[in-house]
Amino acid sequence: MSGTSLPIGILGAGLSGLTVAWSLQKSGTAYQLLEGNAEPGGYIRSVREGEYLRELGPNSLLIDQEVRAFLHELDLSSQLLPANPVGDDRYVFRNGAYRQLPSGPLSLLFGGFFGWKTKLAVLRESRVASRSPEGETLAAFFARRFSPELVDYALNPFVAGIYAGDPQQLLVAQTFPALVAYEREHGSVLKGLMKNRTGERRQSVSFRDGLQTLPRVMASKLDGIRFGIDVQSIHKNPDSGWRVVTSAGELEFDKLIVTAPAFVCAGWFRESLPAFSQVLEAIRYPPMTVVHTAFRRADVRHPLQGFGGLNPKIEGLFAAGHLWSSSVFAARCPPDEVLLTSFVGGSQSANRAHLPDEALLRQLNAELQRVFGVTGEPTFQRIFRWERAIPQYDAHALPAQQQAAALEKEGLFFCTNWLNGVSLTDAIKKGRTLAEKLQSLR
Ligand SMILES: Cc1cc2nc3c(=O)[nH]c(=O)nc-3n(C[C@H](O)[C@H](O)[C@H](O)COP(=O)(O)OP(=O)(O)OC[C@H]3O[C@@H](n4cnc5c(N)ncnc54)[C@H](O)[C@@H]3O)c2cc1C
Repeated sequence: MSGTSLPIGILGAGLSGLTVAWSLQKSGTAYQLLEGNAEPGGYIRSVREGEYLRELGPNSLLIDQEVRAFLHELDLSSQLLPANPVGDDRYVFRNGAYRQLPSGPLSLLFGGFFGWKTKLAVLRESRVASRSPEGETLAAFFARRFSPELVDYALNPFVAGIYAGDPQQLLVAQTFPALVAYEREHGSVLKGLMKNRTGERRQSVSFRDGLQTLPRVMASKLDGIRFGIDVQSIHKNPDSGWRVVTSAGELEFDKLIVTAPAFVCAGWFRESLPAFSQVLEAIRYPPMTVVHTAFRRADVRHPLQGFGGLNPKIEGLFAAGHLWSSSVFAARCPPDEVLLTSFVGGSQSANRAHLPDEALLRQLNAELQRVFGVTGEPTFQRIFRWERAIPQYDAHALPAQQQAAALEKEGLFFCTNWLNGVSLTDAIKKGRTLAEKLQSLR
């Protein structure tokens, strides 16, 4: 069966699938959103235990005007919990302590974080005439345009702490395409940044009950969502359209939007698109273990006035970084305590994520005591393990990313975090853009 009257199929109710569904519903386009779990949100998981609120996956959503308007559309504006002003300050471990990372070129040039070689490199960046060759890594790009020090103390901790990645592996054109565009169009990253400055201040936000409020509210507004439907495989119909085999039977769609992680999609296409399934399988998702620890405020010497502390690989610390969660958002733990969220593992130290609980906590707690001047025992501590956390935009991911685009002409669309951006903001923007494109095709 096929025909234009069929609803659009959306597989997966993480933020990507929910955004596409909401945008289609608003424009009156029929859709069916199928989710395997009993709850929406995918990687977004907020867990409350008494006065403690833990985010197991993402901790904050970065909003600009477009995302703010989107949240307004969902009647969520009044529920937003903005990050405290200290949340703008990022710290990086260097010479035995967390030091504030310069937030822009001026503080970089006039502050004491970086040495004169890096400052000189920043001043001369617009004179670097070379252009990014195909397949250039993030580390090579930054070393070529700036300095090795910037790679070690800004890029490395940023990429490890936020992308669970390794700048020696991630490709610049795939991870930060804007930087390559600035170099190509303006001959300089810094000039490109200045020219494209909108003056708009982006803001980190969450919700009083955590980020999972967002998918829960979105799902509650959707007419076409079904939970507990496990998608098992996807097959191409001989004429046109797609047949989706699920735990609740088979469904037919002319147009299908896939939002699941690459390792899940690989299974779905194993029979119907075996070559594509193989390249999907190659996308790497390093493991990441997330540990939440609370201490009595009086037992912590460090003021924790900031977003958190990132750990450059070169400093040899155990964790990739620690978010100072109770400093960033209100009401994350009892008022006389502090809550830290530590990230262990990622691409550069995957084995550590797999340490048994006892060994992992022994090393982590020793680090927390040392770097934050902790004197007492934790009042609360929980471990959560992501066996496969964040997809890496490295050379292994390229073939699947390239092949996915070619399937659009057959009515198969991908709106996922292994393509065109991993952040929640990316999910919202890509979801809206795809919904608009599909409306224009009908
Ligand atoms: C530890 C960690 C910290 C992060 N921190 C941040 C942060 O602070 N800010 C930020 O912007 N981003 C952050 N991210 C990234 C961000 O959370 C994800 O990239 C984003 O949530 C992905 O959303 P998605 O909807 O594209 O995919 P997913 O959330 O993976 O959604 C896919 C959906 O498909 C469903 N599904 C899977 N298999 C099946 C099946 N067989 N049948 C039916 N349905 C199925 C899943 O249940 C899921 O609901 C973080 C990620 C991790 C792991």
